[in-house]
Amino acid sequence: MAPGRVLYIHDLAVRYGSVTAVRDATLYVDPGEFVAVVGPNGAGKTSLLHAAAGLVSPAAGSVSIGGVPLLSLKRCDVVRHGVALAPEGREIFASLTVLENLKLGATIRRDAKVRADIAEVLKAFPILGERRHQPAGLLSGGEQQQLAIARAMLSKPKLLMLDEPSLGLAPAMIAQVYQVLKTIHAQGVAILLVEQNASRAFALANRAYVMSHGAFTLTGTPAALAKNRNFNAAYFGMAAAVPAFLP
Ligand code: ATP
Repeated sequence: MAPGRVLYIHDLAVRYGSVTAVRDATLYVDPGEFVAVVGPNGAGKTSLLHAAAGLVSPAAGSVSIGGVPLLSLKRCDVVRHGVALAPEGREIFASLTVLENLKLGATIRRDAKVRADIAEVLKAFPILGERRHQPAGLLSGGEQQQLAIARAMLSKPKLLMLDEPSLGLAPAMIAQVYQVLKTIHAQGVAILLVEQNASRAFALANRAYVMSHGAFTLTGTPAALAKNRNFNAAYFGMAAAVPAFLP
């Protein structure tokens, strides 16, 4: 257990039948941190996030959020404990309007501020404001990504986890999405970002982990990782796995 940490993953393994997607993974995110996990296709990044969100059960190891073991929570309570996931492929509801999708992000809330927060989000994402009554399926990929992030933010998370938010987007759109992440982080929300594009992620992250073949191969600050001559080997899985550094 790690009471001060918004997320603590210890010695995690995720398996699908005979496939081991994640092994021996230890990672933490402290309040207000921006942590990136970078790695190529199939490295195990999505499986790691799914385990952190309680969407898959670990084969070994543990996950705790805000010091509470994930095992002791029901799946729906993970969001109540302050963790939101903007999934790979966005998973917005195409036939629902933008506004209806946003309201779904706030379903766990019982407070009176939901309407005001939706209005705020529509201001922060002007394109969503303009198209709030249109089916979300009509939005472009980048606009749908903004919707997925905005929807996740409406649960008022302490930790926002994002799975490849730049996937399939044009460079201008990627820059916009990253600007949004910068703003959210500046508001004090901790971020765990999973990305193939290391240089993009490193531009915003305080700390990062390199993941390859299901294991962390390097970890440190983006500046130190970018200078590390083993970086490419670690990214592409040609270096022996090293244990993640824990202070
Ligand atoms: P990508 O960037 O391509 O999405 P990733 O780093 O997110 O990759 P994962 O999607 O976690 O990696 O996949 C890790 C490994 O687990 C891969 O070999 C993948 O084929 C396998 N895998 C993922 N989900 C399943 C599943 N439901 N059943 C079987 N194998 C799976």
